[in-house]
Amino acid sequence: MSSSEADCLFCKIVEGDVPSTPVYENGTTYAFRDINPQARVHVLVVARQHHEDAGALAGDDPALLADVILAGVEVARQEGIEESGYRLVFNTGDDAGRTVFHAHLHVLGGEQLGLFGRPG
Ligand code: 5GP
Ligand code: ZN
Repeated sequence: MSSSEADCLFCKIVEGDVPSTPVYENGTTYAFRDINPQARVHVLVVARQHHEDAGALAGDDPALLADVILAGVEVARQEGIEESGYRLVFNTGDDAGRTVFHAHLHVLGGEQLGLFGRPG
């Protein structure tokens, strides 16, 4: 898989071609605020390199998946929610509401979160 896919929104965000609000970055990952936050803290963490989803990332480069998760933990620390708690989520497929096909970790917290599962 190429490191950047021409039509990938999150590749464009990583490259700075689409603006975003940075939260944390290092050599392999980039974290930015979700444009439509679902909690007081809602940050997305991506690998700089394009991988379609969490499973592909795990299979292609498990160390990079670990980098993404550790960046999520660092985001939680920076945002002051490490103690109060937070949720790390990878959505896959239609039933999960997946919309962007560059693997991304949602970091959600800053308030009491809803339970998993069925809407409503
Ligand atoms: P998914 O549903 O694929 O797991 O999550 C995609 C996330 O990307 C959604 O939470 C959505 O609000 C966010 N998103 C979509 N487009 C943009 C954008 O242009 N900028 C930012 N910062 N977030 C975006
Ligand atoms: Zn991409």
